[in-house]
Amino acid sequence: MLSDVVCVRCPRSCLIRVAVEEGSVKSVEGYGCRLGFEYAVEEVTNPKRTVCSTVRVVGGRYPRLPVRTSEPVPKSKIREVVEALRGVTVKAPVRRGEVIVRNVAGTGADVVAEMDVEPEAA
Ligand code: SF4
Repeated sequence: MLSDVVCVRCPRSCLIRVAVEEGSVKSVEGYGCRLGFEYAVEEVTNPKRTVCSTVRVVGGRYPRLPVRTSEPVPKSKIREVVEALRGVTVKAPVRRGEVIVRNVAGTGADVVAEMDVEPEAA
């Protein structure tokens, strides 16, 4: 099977062709550097994405807190990650970078706060 991947690691946007046979990478062509080679192989064999979402905040100046995974997670786990965040509520104050959910959906990635949320003004 041949897969074409556009590398997003730099503005050059190399078009990389990856050939996979019986689950193994047989050839990689078109990459401009090692970063692109690794990106294309991962994109074809085990694609990953950073998941961004929001969770509920109580007692804060905002009702929702933007969060994201601390590292990309396998695409096949994205639905589980989103499900794991459903119903999560945090109490203000929250600090940017604070861990909201550890090892979300068994991915090894944490879910972290994307911004500070101060307590609601009395
Ligand atoms: S393969 Fe290397 S040179 Fe090409 S787009 Fe990716 S990072 Fe840039």
